[in-house]
Parts: sequence; C-alpha cells; structure tokens
Amino acid sequence: MATKYNLKQWAYAATVMAAASSQSAWAEDAHSYAKLQEVTTPHLELDLTVDFEGKQLRGTATYDLVRKSDDATTVHMDTRELTISKAEIWQDNAWQETSFKLAEPHETLGQELTVSIGEATDKVRIHYTTAPTASGLQWLSPEQTKSVKFPFMFSQSQPIHARSWIPIQDTPALRLTYDATVRTPAGMLAVMSADNSLDPELDGNYSFSMPQPIPPYLIAIAAGELVVKEISDNVAVFAEPYIIDDAAWEWADTPAMITATEEMYGPYRWDRYDLLVLPPSFPFGGMENPRLSFITPTVVSGDRTLINLIAHELAHSWSGNLVTNASWRDLWLNEGFTSYVENRIMESLFGERRAQMELALGYQDLLDNMERLAPKDTVLNIELGTRHPDDVFSQVPYVKGQLFLVYLENKFGRETFDNFLRQYFDDFAFQSISTAEFKAYLARHLLAKNPDVVSMDKVNEWIHEPGLPADAPKPTSNAFAEVEKQMQRWLKGGQLTTQEWTTHEWLHFINNLPLDISSVNMRRLDEQFNLTQSKNAEIAHAWLKLAIVKNYEPARDRLRNYLLTIGRNKLVSPLYRELAKTPDNLKWAREVYQQAKPGYHPLTQTVNEALLYPEQ
Ligand SMILES: [Zn+2]
Repeated sequence: MATKYNLKQWAYAATVMAAASSQSAWAEDAHSYAKLQEVTTPHLELDLTVDFEGKQLRGTATYDLVRKSDDATTVHMDTRELTISKAEIWQDNAWQETSFKLAEPHETLGQELTVSIGEATDKVRIHYTTAPTASGLQWLSPEQTKSVKFPFMFSQSQPIHARSWIPIQDTPALRLTYDATVRTPAGMLAVMSADNSLDPELDGNYSFSMPQPIPPYLIAIAAGELVVKEISDNVAVFAEPYIIDDAAWEWADTPAMITATEEMYGPYRWDRYDLLVLPPSFPFGGMENPRLSFITPTVVSGDRTLINLIAHELAHSWSGNLVTNASWRDLWLNEGFTSYVENRIMESLFGERRAQMELALGYQDLLDNMERLAPKDTVLNIELGTRHPDDVFSQVPYVKGQLFLVYLENKFGRETFDNFLRQYFDDFAFQSISTAEFKAYLARHLLAKNPDVVSMDKVNEWIHEPGLPADAPKPTSNAFAEVEKQMQRWLKGGQLTTQEWTTHEWLHFINNLPLDISSVNMRRLDEQFNLTQSKNAEIAHAWLKLAIVKNYEPARDRLRNYLLTIGRNKLVSPLYRELAKTPDNLKWAREVYQQAKPGYHPLTQTVNEALLYPEQ
C-alpha cells in the first residue's frame, strides 16, 4: 500500500468529516461494543485446538493494542456464548492476570467483554472456549460428510458471528492482521483465510499468517478431510476428495477472471486466490474469505454455467475485502459494487448476451424480493437499529446497488465510470468506508468533474429512498424474449428447441411458466427433460418450487431428498416458504424439516423455523 494514498486519504477523510454531518465511521456501528476511539487491536494471534467431540474451539486470542485515547484503561470487545476463563496483559516481560467483565447477553449483539489493560501494556491475551451452539460455526459428524471418514467444521463470520468463535472487536470499521496456530486430529487438514500450504503434511498441526489487514468478519477457518488441486500457479481448489476433480474442472476459468478484473480495476492485492468447497450444508452460495473463498458444492453443476458465483466472490477481492463497508448499514457498498463487478467479469469472459441474462435474472429476483419487503427495508443505506443484519438479508444491497452503478455507468459512459471506480479502489484500499464518505467522494470525483449529468438529489433518491427510481435501468434479455416465444409455441403443443440453452434460459423458462399449466404439460416437460432429477441444483430448485405450487406428486421424493441434502439457504427457504402456504404441505414440510435440521447450519435453521413455526 503506497504511503501517498494514506496521506492523501487522511487529509481527505479529515475534510469529509469536518464538512459532512456524519460522525466518524467508528462511532456508527450499532452492532459492536468495540470502542475504537479508545483502543484498537490491529493484530491478532490465535492459538486454537479443534475439539470435534466437544464441538468446541479452545485456546487463546492475543492482541496488540493501540491506545487512541490517553486515559483508556479498558478494551471493549464482542463475544457470543464464549466461556472466558482468564485474561492477561503483558507487563514487565511476563503475562500477568488481569480482571475482566462479561455483560448480560443482548439477543442480537451477544455479550460485551471489558478487559482491564492498565496504563502501560500493549498486549492482551484471552483464554476461552466456544459453545457447541456457536452461531458462526457448523460441526458435521463423519456421517454427515460424503466420505464418512472424518468430521468437518467451518466458520461463517459475516456479518456478526466472528464473536461467537473469537473474542474480538467485531466491527468492519476495524482492520487487523492475524497469525494462527490450529491443532486438529491427525489426518485432517485445517485451512484459513490466510496463506494455505499447497503441500501440507497432515500431522494435525497448522500455522497461518494473514499479512494484509482485514475486517474481523473475514477471519475464517475450516477443517476436514481435504485435498488440494492446482488450477494454475496462483489458483488452487481445496475440497473433500469426492468433488476435487469436478470442482477444479468447473472453475478452470478462474485465472482468466483474475486477469480480466485486474485489467479493469487494478492489481489483485492478496497474493494467491484459492477456493474451498464446503459441504452442502454451507448456508450461502459463497463467502469471500480473502485468499480462500468458501463455496457451496451446489454450483458444481458439471456444465460451468454457475461460475458467476466465483466471479462474485473474486470481485469481493476489490469491493468488500479491499474497500469495506464501515457498518452493516453500508452493506450495499460491498454487495452492490461486487454484483456490478461480477457482471462485468462475466461480460468480459463470456460476452454481453450471458452477462445480460444474469443481470435480468437478478432484476427479477429483486422485484420478487421487494414485493414482500417493508418499504423501509428496500433502502440501500438501510436503517437497521440493532436488528440482526441476517434478519433483513435480501437482494436489495446486491441488485439495487448494482443497478445504481449500472445507472451511473450509463449516464457517465463506461470509460469515465471505469476510471472513477479504479481510482476509488486505489484511494480506499485496505480501508473501511461509510455511505456518507462514499457520497462525498462521488460528489467530488465524478459528479463535480462531469457537471449536469447526475444530480446529488438523484444520488440521494437511489441511496436513501425506498424502491427503485422511475428512471432506473430495467434489464431485459433478448435471449429471454426468445425463450418466451418458444414457451408460447410449446404451450400450444409445439416442440421446444433447447440444445443451446444454458441454466439461465431454463431458469427463465421454468420461472415464467403460467401457474395454470396443466398436469399433462408438467409431465410432458418432465418426461422429455428430466427436470425432477436435474443434477443442476438451480434448475431443480426452480422446478421443485413450481411442483409445490402445482401439487405435482412425481416430484415429491426428489423434493424431500433435496431438502434433506442441501442446506444452502437461497435454495431451501423458498421451498419451505411455498410449502408453508397450505396446511397439508406445511405438515409435510415440518416432518421433513425435523429430519433435515441436524444437518442444517444454525443460520439455515433460524430462517426456516421462522417460516415453518411463525407463532413461536
Ligand atoms: Zn457478496
């Protein structure tokens, strides 16, 4: 990181803070007890033992301390369900026990940990154990993995779950580097969002270093029966043996994606980019843990049509990991920019037709989402209060944020907007930024330099008003228009020509079939294209959702199996939501859910129990 950017940025930030009504980004995170204006923790040293029998991590977190206020004698951290046995400070060349206090638990935020640090020390060490129910960890028994030989565990820290496995100042306004020592049973491999060895000795003793400063939600760990396969000299896949070859084949385009992104937005600054395949219970599509994205196996579809997810996680290496939202109210700065960059990567590698289809599919999802969201939750710079960010998860920060950037690109022209974005990533590299700071930067570096193109009123409408502006882009796709024409012919008894169709066309076709489609036509489609048994998890999802609406019985067994084997929330919760609409289906869904629950991640459990047991 070049020093001149730092100096420039500090000067710039000072101007913004003096001029804008916004407070410092540090004071704005309602989801953390950290008091960064008093003490910060820029480096962490973790020492952890993975105890699969107890479903616990046990060990110490040691922090370097930087005092921002002369009279600070305590450091405030976030925890959830942690058992703290001891706190120490480094003083007179030795570790000395110090007092600490855990506050009463807050339902969303967890427990504030206050540790006395006196006036002189610059290191604190906390001895702790996690709870088997830690919200940021999932523990799978050997029977819940494919090979049945070893158990598996993985973390999901975003947004505020790092505190359930590390006592930490859990706010994205903080950046820290980390080193870690991790012990597992021999024969298993531990990996982290850090420098992973490509030739590990499976002795159960692993050490890691993450030299670039990252926000706490990007600290990640996984351990299981893992093998490695290199795709290129800077990209490798880590996975359980059963899927390693398929995943490496599926994601062969990753190195080309890195090159394409660097050409548009500047250097990749994280050294290697590796991918980890998680078990099917991973609740998300992917998680952009730096140097090692965590990915659901449901995108290993065998046809390379779902790799926009890899483009998305890779894009976070610029938007999100390099330039980070200062609080969860600013999530759109991570996800909107990333969805935009993702689509530009797809266009660069696979052309405009495919990128346009993906944009149009995202837009349909956004419209569906907005129909059931309260208007206030369709605002980009959302008012969260102390609601859990997971509870308001939607496509709004992703696709509405993306459409805002598409709007700006259309108005200013691609070349001008690309130059602006590249400069933005440079100027805020390895920093956290609030919506107010972004607006000030946009005003100065894009709006003022190109007067009378977009007004600040329009920017404010995009960022602070619900819904979409009347002149928002409305992405459509010629390929989808063609699909709709074919559908009309097919509904009248004609044949479908699908040889050239990818997942995108199929999704559009199934999602837009008329809801009064006859059972004869459902069966006709299924017999010809084997949709009930589709190996593509997204196509199967769309078909199964329709099958629920239509009470199409031949799909019942697959539906049950699907819900029992996949825990990716985006794929299962729309199915449970649809099932919950009729008493008979709800009863059936509850039975399946109870059977599936032990294999679901805590997050997937929370979301779907709210759908199936709303009265609780
Ligand atoms: Zn993302």
